[in-house]
Amino acid sequence: MTQHYRITLLSGDGIGPEIMAVAVEVLKVIGAQLDLSFEFQEALMGGAAIDAKGEPLPAETLDLCKNSDAVLLAAIGGYKWDTLPRHLRPETGLLGLRAGLGLFANLRPAKILPQLVDASSLKREIVEGVDILVVRELTGGVYFGQPKGIFATETGEKRGVNTMAYTESEIDRIGRVGFETAQKRGNKLCSVDKANVLEVSQLWRDRMTALATEYPDVELSHMYVDNAAMQLLRYPKQFDTIVTSNLFGDILSDAAAMLTGSIGMLPSASLGASGPGVFEPVHGSAPDIAGQDKANPLAQVLSAAMMLRYSLNQPAAADRIEQAVNTVLDQGNRTGDIMSNEMTLLGCKAMGEALIQALHSV
Ligand code: NAD
Repeated sequence: MTQHYRITLLSGDGIGPEIMAVAVEVLKVIGAQLDLSFEFQEALMGGAAIDAKGEPLPAETLDLCKNSDAVLLAAIGGYKWDTLPRHLRPETGLLGLRAGLGLFANLRPAKILPQLVDASSLKREIVEGVDILVVRELTGGVYFGQPKGIFATETGEKRGVNTMAYTESEIDRIGRVGFETAQKRGNKLCSVDKANVLEVSQLWRDRMTALATEYPDVELSHMYVDNAAMQLLRYPKQFDTIVTSNLFGDILSDAAAMLTGSIGMLPSASLGASGPGVFEPVHGSAPDIAGQDKANPLAQVLSAAMMLRYSLNQPAAADRIEQAVNTVLDQGNRTGDIMSNEMTLLGCKAMGEALIQALHSV
């Protein structure tokens, strides 16, 4: 029987529409091959929504997302909207989407593909075989804690305030995602905090240690965030799954991403307790190359694969897409961001066509 899925597409800004077009074509082919039917509903978000509706996340967009099986997001933002007041910035729409869908866990794989080892800025022997997954808490911590704002002090001087706060239940629910993700991988979980300085981190560490008793098959370690940043560059292969708070995860997942050499290759998933997840590339809207057919669509396509795996429970479809990505790279096809000697330089559209061909031969 045909499985039917309603997918909300948020193409956003910059290269967003170009890479989304490739992912949609890939999904259509996979659908036809595996008897899956996708109903795509497009909605405005980010700068495109600000221009059309005056706000980065219109209520109708959030409603459409809530009424879908999964959300595929490309990228939002650009120079044009950078000077708007904070509540009107594209990024505010992203925070609203995460909060509105209760997406508290962000999964970011950083895996070195053998074809792209030399794209890393680190030495081959350091990065070869790296396969890390960073589980980042997404709806708490210093990005949301109260009080926040810029306040005048008694002397008239301004004071900026943000509050890093986590409750035990917030820590436990992301901790469980960390342990359960580690169980599906190498059974090694490294919890990253700053417990030597921050009370909120001491509570984080206490809860992770307590949770570990429920997951005896997972080897838990703790690391301070400054050391974790250093170890990611020194010996990244020591990591399997990392679980950490919102701010630390934001920074560490970008550092882990760069081990792979190209931000254009990295997908991510954001999941809640129930309801649709949001799947998006790690990179931004790349306004410097927008509209020039230069974008690498593979992170977007791999995000669609994560959507099939984590939200739609279609691992065979996800496997086929990942295999097609491998095939096009094996064939020597490269976009500019991952280009190296003796490879074939393709634009975004041509990379999409190569993927479709590869899918037909999987
Ligand atoms: P960026 O990721 O957009 O670009 C950084 C560099 O990587 C640029 O040189 C860009 O050309 C390149 N790049 C990124 N994705 C690529 C791809 N798929 N193929 C080839 N090259 C690619 O980051 P930035 O320049 O710091 O930010 C640009 C805009 O994107 C800003 O407005 C920022 O706020 C926004 N942004 C959005 C998201 C999101 O939508 N989740 C994430 C990060 C940044």
